[in-house]
Amino acid sequence: MPDHRLCSESLTAGYEDRRVLESVDFRVAEGRLTVLLGPNGSGKSTLLKALARTLTPQRGRVLLDGQEIHRYRTREVAHRLGILPQSPTAPEGMTVRELVGMGRFPHQRLWRQWSRQDEAAVVEAMAVARVADLAERPVDALSGGQRQRCWIAMVLAQDTDLILLDEPTTFLDLKVQVDLLELLVRLAHDGGRTLLVVLHDLNLAAAHADVLVMMRDGRIEHCGPPEAVFTAANLKRVFDLEAEVINAPNTGRPVCIPALGSTALLGRRKEELSA
Ligand code: ADP
Repeated sequence: MPDHRLCSESLTAGYEDRRVLESVDFRVAEGRLTVLLGPNGSGKSTLLKALARTLTPQRGRVLLDGQEIHRYRTREVAHRLGILPQSPTAPEGMTVRELVGMGRFPHQRLWRQWSRQDEAAVVEAMAVARVADLAERPVDALSGGQRQRCWIAMVLAQDTDLILLDEPTTFLDLKVQVDLLELLVRLAHDGGRTLLVVLHDLNLAAAHADVLVMMRDGRIEHCGPPEAVFTAANLKRVFDLEAEVINAPNTGRPVCIPALGSTALLGRRKEELSA
């Protein structure tokens, strides 16, 4: 087994004649939670899609377990790797249980339909993602956050060691976002899964990731543990964000505090506060 089950070599990818990723060399850390950060349009989703084989490279290659990912059959990829794309939509009227059950498709064969193992995987995935009490409800009648948890349950039911999630916390309120990130950390640290997740929230990413990857203009600018990567200089360079970075008193993890506009504005705020 190679050290890194999923990696890219000189990966250049994009859409039609548009190039987004520029010669990206990237190895997804085994048994870790890796978070991709970057401004809108920096190529995070494109990288995820290329790594999951939903986008064909223009140049370079993606290796899954040492073999070029395009050489595998779809079912073989789905056995090894689960991906949740951004804003997926469920067929009209489909129930939560049915949607989560779709995660079991790669495990089924013509001669072996729904098994006890499939049922157990669905029940466990629904429990972990906390959607068990919604099981018989139609997905399209749920709130955005509930729906998002159903999709996460579907990927969990697929029961792959490699899990790629594109902005899974969209629509979730903060408490549920934290719960979800804690779940992802547990899947990596206790379950030995390898997770690659695109997130928007910088501080949640820095608080939970084992590895942070910062992208800009289709390139990986920084990659490493949050303590090394999540610095004021890197936030300025990658996001053009003026921020102070401090350490959280409870965890020691880096936290960014964005500057409040111009110095003049800050002065006025101080005067207002002391008035
Ligand atoms: P991010 O996930 O960092 O926001 P994306 O990977 O979605 O960035 O997008 C990178 C660039 O590729 C953007 O300029 C975006 O407009 C473009 N892009 C994304 N999807 C498509 C598509 N299906 N067709 C054409 N261009 C696309």
